Amino acid sequence: MKRDSIRWNSSYNKRAKSNTCSSSRTGKPLSVYPSESAARKAADYANQEYDNNLVPYQCKTCKKWHLSPKDRQTPSKVCPKCISRNGKRKALYKSQNDADNRASILAKEQGVDLLVYKCPHNRGWHLTKGQ
Ligand SMILES: [Zn+2]
Ligand SMILES: [Zn+2]
Repeated sequence: MKRDSIRWNSSYNKRAKSNTCSSSRTGKPLSVYPSESAARKAADYANQEYDNNLVPYQCKTCKKWHLSPKDRQTPSKVCPKCISRNGKRKALYKSQNDADNRASILAKEQGVDLLVYKCPHNRGWHLTKGQ
């Protein structure tokens, strides 16, 4: 008997699990919500009950809504000038702080050592692999 699942089922929102998307952190299927308002309600609930800091986002893969911890939402664009070693445009961060946050997430999740540096074309900040 799984007590956790009973507790979750008795809460007001039915949590459907995605069969296309899983957490890059835990590898578990993500909870999926049909609309922004449903995702927003679930986030508010979790934030209150569990002191989480979750924000809804629309998934590019399944086009539905998932929740993500706020500190993972590091806004990035692609740099119009810089190309990375694998031939793709480099991710561009608005501020050094955003780039730092992203670097520490990747360090924790993937064990990669990344350095923050200023875009040589003054478009923002980039990450590069440490030596
Ligand atoms: Zn998805
Ligand atoms: Zn650049």
